[in-house]
Amino acid sequence: MSIRRHNHHRHQPAETVTDPVCGMRISKYGATPRRETASSLVHFCSADCASAFDGDPARYLRARE
Ligand SMILES: [Zn+2]
Repeated sequence: MSIRRHNHHRHQPAETVTDPVCGMRISKYGATPRRETASSLVHFCSADCASAFDGDPARYLRARE
C-alpha cells in the first residue's frame, strides 16, 4: 500500500459556507442540497434545512444580513 501526497489539494477556507437555516458550516462541494436565489447560491446541511428554507426563503435570506 502506497501513500501518495495530494499536492494539488490546497487549503482554501472559502470552500465552506454557512447554512442560513441552522448556521452550520458546510462544504460547498459536498453532496448537500442547495438553492439558487436571485442574489446568491445557498447551501444546506440537510434536506430538512433546505425544505425549511423553501417554506420561507425571505426569512432566512434576511437573517444573513
Ligand atoms: Zn442545516
